[in-house]
Amino acid sequence: MYQADSKRYDNMVYNHLGDSGLQLSAIGLGLWHNFGSVDAYENQRAIVQQAFDLGITYFDLANNYGPIPGSAEENFGRILATDLKPYRDEIVVASKAGYEMWDGPYGNWGSRKSIIASANQSLARLGLDYVDIFYSHRPDPDTNVYETAQALDSLVRQGKALYVGISNYSGAQTEAIIKCFEDMHTPFVIHQPRYNMFNRGIEQDLFPVLKAHHKAAVGFSSLCQGLLTDKYLNGIPENSRAAKSTSPFLQPKQVKQTLKTVRALNDVAASRNQTLAEMALAWNLREPELACVLVGASRPGQLVDNVKALNHLDFSDDELAQIDAILAD
Ligand code: NDP
Repeated sequence: MYQADSKRYDNMVYNHLGDSGLQLSAIGLGLWHNFGSVDAYENQRAIVQQAFDLGITYFDLANNYGPIPGSAEENFGRILATDLKPYRDEIVVASKAGYEMWDGPYGNWGSRKSIIASANQSLARLGLDYVDIFYSHRPDPDTNVYETAQALDSLVRQGKALYVGISNYSGAQTEAIIKCFEDMHTPFVIHQPRYNMFNRGIEQDLFPVLKAHHKAAVGFSSLCQGLLTDKYLNGIPENSRAAKSTSPFLQPKQVKQTLKTVRALNDVAASRNQTLAEMALAWNLREPELACVLVGASRPGQLVDNVKALNHLDFSDDELAQIDAILAD
């Protein structure tokens, strides 16, 4: 029987989501990889237990996470039922709809039909009456933004979500949907963009919009799928994401292309007495609009390492300039 660590809240940092009362742990666990039906269930359980024991309260899912699509929600639902049920009110569970999930015209994108059907399916897989945050996973160019916003708003009014979020929306798309949420008084609290040292486009486009509206972001792929760690410095280890056929989004080619930069960043991290993963997470969190950084993990120990980022969050101007110069090279 799992018993959570009684010291779990001692070292984690919790940040408000902009002007919302909701706080998230500064580090959240993402279940995109390593929680599918192709992955060992006991390892998944150990990762989730480790996360909660470290004070991580934010668990990020989506309808299509697996593989197979849906299996991450099913597995997390099982872990919730066996281990986290007594702690349901201590965690924030999020899911999303917007990428392809089932056949035909309704299993994808952002219509009212798709979003509400998908949310109902997610709740069934998770074994929950409600999720804490439900996201539109990506903007739909063929659906009026008001329809997508209204579908999210309906989920809140039906008691199926407490808050809503959006992901992968540009600054202009974010402005447009915020207007709809304001009209309806929808509890919109979070944007989920990709953000890491190799993906900084949103600094100019999105962060100013979030700042103007007092909204926060939770960044995804905070370690660029593992590239921003020391794991690939001496080749591609077996069982790493770049080596796995079930992870088509990270290929050996990307490891090779980034190696020189990663080595230079690793030297800066060493001079700060941090691992590269710790420094990369701390660097993401220097952005005031970023309330939480999501990390994936293939084993519990990676989370133990990653939360150490919180022990050294500040950067000198010189360190920031060195990092900018390395990234610009
Ligand atoms: P990361 O950039 O955090 O990469 C995670 C991978 O990095 C792990 O699987 C592991 O790889 C490696 N890793 C983590 N910690 C360490 C460490 N300390 N030392 C060495 N290697 C480490 O995240 P993801 O790309 O997985 O994204 C995180 C989450 O963001 C997702 O799970 C999902 O919830 C969300 N997301 C959202 C998207 C959206 O469109 N909204 C899109 C993508 C992600 P290995 O397996 O090789 O050990």
